[in-house]
Amino acid sequence: MMASAGERKREARRRPRWRLVALAVLTGSIFVADTVTHFEIAVAVFYTAVILLAIELLSVRGVVALAVFCAVLTVASLFLTRSGAFDAGLMNCAISVLAIAVTTYLSLKLVAAKAAVFEAQAKLGQMARLTRLGELTASIAHEINQPLAAISMSAQAGCRWLNREPPDLAKAQQALGRIVEAANRAGDVIIRVRGLAKGEMPRKQRLDLNEMLREATVLAQGEIERNAIALSLDLAQGLPPLLADKVQLQQVMANLLLNAIEAMSAVPEARRELEIASFREGARDIGFSISDTGVGLGTHALDHLFDSFWTSKEGGMGIGLTISRSIVEAHGGRIWATSKPRLGAVFRCTLPSCEGDDT
Ligand code: ADP
Repeated sequence: MMASAGERKREARRRPRWRLVALAVLTGSIFVADTVTHFEIAVAVFYTAVILLAIELLSVRGVVALAVFCAVLTVASLFLTRSGAFDAGLMNCAISVLAIAVTTYLSLKLVAAKAAVFEAQAKLGQMARLTRLGELTASIAHEINQPLAAISMSAQAGCRWLNREPPDLAKAQQALGRIVEAANRAGDVIIRVRGLAKGEMPRKQRLDLNEMLREATVLAQGEIERNAIALSLDLAQGLPPLLADKVQLQQVMANLLLNAIEAMSAVPEARRELEIASFREGARDIGFSISDTGVGLGTHALDHLFDSFWTSKEGGMGIGLTISRSIVEAHGGRIWATSKPRLGAVFRCTLPSCEGDDT
């Protein structure tokens, strides 16, 4: 961070006095030497050394004042010197004054450049910390929202079952069970997001991609029905298992599904189609795609979708796809989006399978 004015003053007070005295002695010695030696000897150029030393000790104004003082001493020596050719002395005097001026200018420029570099470095460090903190906070808020909504909905349902005459205890118990489940999911998400932020490796286990996709669809079923979306599943058979962190992969799928559903809220109900597919990719990878008939993606959106905090939604946070990409990449996979020729978007994600692995 740049030093404040107060810090600079305190720093100035700490400067060893002897260095200033040494500087004064050096200046005086050069003046005496320049005056007693012949005109032909350009002792005054050594004032440039005085300027270079002063840069560390004096403020910008102090350095400029000292440079002017050195130039005055150089001219004074010209008139006080008694021996040698005056013409040569005049020439040396001009060269020395020029050298003092150039040295002062370049030294001050160097100091300003150094300060700018320090300031830029400090700002960069601060920005990196803020971005990291902001991303972490936003991602926790984003991922925790879903289980929180589920908790609130189940709690309301539970209340309704209990308020019935007579109360339906079995249904109320089911609602409580769902609350516990959602709360555990929220806890899991926090642990995983923290792990992700700390750069921890995902907790991988063998998973069936099609089963994961079916589960994700069940979780989003309420939203799919509420928005009158026609859903179709096209799951490839005989896919090898994945080695992945279940909660993290669920996060990716849930995020892509919710984005697709939200993207279709702006198009007429009759046109809302959500297609979930799984497929093989190359020799070892398997993947899934989530395709919608929503508002689609423009070139600008395609360029920035995965950037942190990039959102086109009013209440959006622009962090879901950033997290999704870091999860997928931490699994050695790839996630990307394309725009559909008619309307809508397709998000594809591929991950390495554990085909042929003995683990
Ligand atoms: P958020 O949903 O909070 O905006 P995301 O990172 O999940 O954050 O998405 C970033 C942006 O990408 C969204 O605001 C939206 O503009 C765009 N986007 C994501 N998915 C789709 C989609 N299926 N169709 C159209 N645009 C999408």
